Formats: sequence, C-alpha cells, structure tokens
Amino acid sequence: MKILLTGGTGFIGSRLVKHLQFSHELTILSRNPIKAYQKLGHNLLAIPSLKELNNLNEYDAVINLAGEPIANKRWSEQQKKRICDSRWVLTEQLVELFAKSDQPPQTFISGSAIGYYGEQGQQDVDEASIIEDDSFPHQVCKTWEQIALKAANENTRVCVLRTGVVIGIEGGALAKMLPAFRLGLGGPVANGQQQMSWIHISDMVDAIIFLLNHQQCHGAYNLTSPNPVTNQQFSQALSKQLNRPCVFRAPAWVLNTAMGEMASLITGGQKVLPKRLSNEGFNFRYKELDHAFKEILLRR
Ligand code: NDP
Repeated sequence: MKILLTGGTGFIGSRLVKHLQFSHELTILSRNPIKAYQKLGHNLLAIPSLKELNNLNEYDAVINLAGEPIANKRWSEQQKKRICDSRWVLTEQLVELFAKSDQPPQTFISGSAIGYYGEQGQQDVDEASIIEDDSFPHQVCKTWEQIALKAANENTRVCVLRTGVVIGIEGGALAKMLPAFRLGLGGPVANGQQQMSWIHISDMVDAIIFLLNHQQCHGAYNLTSPNPVTNQQFSQALSKQLNRPCVFRAPAWVLNTAMGEMASLITGGQKVLPKRLSNEGFNFRYKELDHAFKEILLRR
C-alpha cells in the first residue's frame, strides 16, 4: 500500500512507521523532513508541506496523527488556537485533497482522543454514548472528527481514533511520570478515583493497522484497553512494578494552580470501553495494566 502519514515523527507515528516501513511505501508529512529522515530512516519519503500535492490519487490510505502536543504548555488562548489549528486546518487540507482526487485513497484514518467524552466520572462510555460537553478537549475532538468525516463517501471510508492514554517508554504520559515514580515520589492525583483509560503503545499501533486492513471498519473507534483503572490503581501498579512506595498524593488545588484549565486532563477522567474494536475482532495483547507495565519497564 502507498500511505501518506502525518505525525509520523511523533510518539505513536514513529512506532507505526517501524511496523509499516518495510511492507508499505510511506510518505511522511513533517515540518522538518531532515529530522524525519534522521529519526525514521531513508527508506521513506518526507515532505514538508501538503502544498507539494495536488491530489491524493497516488495513495491508497492516509493516516493523520499530527498535532501540537495537548499537555506541553498551559492552555492560554494562543496555545488553544495552536492545538486546534494544528489539527483542524491540516485535516481540512487533507479533506480538500481527497475532494480533488479522481481516485481518492480508500482509507482515511484520523486522530481524535477520549477527551471527546468530556468528564464522565465512574460511568462507562463507548462509541455510542451521546455526549453534550463544553470542555476544551471535547470541542477540539468533536470538530477534528467532524472535519475528517467529511472525506467519507462511496470511495473512501473514514475511521477516527478516540485514543486513550497511550503508555510506552518513548513518549506520552508515562515517560513524563516515570522520573518521579522512579524516585519513589510518585502517587495518585486529587482523590485518585478519576478513571484512566489507557492503552499499550503496541496495541495502539496494532489497532491502527487493524483498521487499515479491515475494509468494513468505519466511523469512531475507542483505542483504549478493555480494563480502564482509577488514577490510584494506575499509580499503585506503576510503583509496584518499579518496586517503589506509593505514598505521595498531589492535591487537586496544587495542579489547578500550576496547570490551570489543563489540570482537568489529570484531575478528571472517563471510563472508556473499546466496544467496537472488541466486537469487530481486534485482540488486545495488553488487557491488564500490570502486564502492560511489566512489558514496557522490563524491555528497557
Ligand atoms: P506527538 O506529540 O508525539 O507527535 C505529533 C506529531 O505532530 C509531531 O511529531 C509533529 O511532527 C507534529 N506536530 C507537533 N506540533 C505540531 C504543530 N504545531 N503543527 C503541525 N504539526 C505538529 O503525538 P503522539 O504521537 O503522542 O499522538 C499522535 C496523535 O494522537 C496526536 O494528535 C495526539 O493528540 C493524539 N493522541 C495521543 C495520545 C497519547 O497518549 N500519546 C492520547 C490521545 C490522543 P513534525 O515535527 O514532524 O511536523
């Protein structure tokens, strides 16, 4: 397959490239193609801008993972605009290229996040849940998905990836948490009862490849393990795996003061179930958090 991939240099994208690059022909959209070659190797093509393309006729699939990191900087109005524009504008440009193609790619897989569901307390949510929410993460994801879904027609199917907390050593939330937990300074946040819907990086990549290869799949999919945990359970499992105590607790007010509105990513949560992936035959390799942590931390 010939695949156009945005975000290929990122945490998830670079792992996906490793799996696809020897069996498929990849074009990576990267703001810095030289860095992309250095990171990913030279057996792919890196382009700096979609302006290099008049249409998508030559591609069989597009996978769209690019976006300004959501949790790197406080959500000032300027940063919120950067988070939105880096997803919405790029996705809109891709949709325009689909429309300009006589033979558009059959598959468009585009990012989203479980932030789509807003804060749902202890209630189970799946792809069929009806969500009314005015939080920033919901608004980002809802519009991002709506734009991507415009590419859907009789020639092209669209899958959107409602992605949970991806855990792996090379990036994402776990990489940020590890230094404190290794020092025995980690622990739950707020009352620790907020839900964390996590997914192992290997299952994340396998699920994207599953959606790529299963022509009947379309619409929104939750990419989360079948066993979400509370923040407290997550902290305890990580401390146990590292053989460290789990005694500290970060009060919500400290995070609210330090992070502002962005603290809601940690102090809130949602219990998301991957109903569609499970029903449609995807097998998770890492269903239990202990197993996932063991693999990630032992592999180092
Ligand atoms: P990363 O932050 O690791 O990588 C995303 C890529 O997007 C970067 O490599 C970069 O590519 C590109 N990018 C970054 N900022 C911008 C910008 N301002 N404008 C345009 N492009 C930009 O993301 P992940 O791999 O962790 O995640 C991939 C997608 O999945 C993201 O959209 C993310 O929101 C979503 N997601 C991830 C989760 C996770 O736990 N990791 C959870 C939920 C959703 P380059 O520099 O080459 O242009």
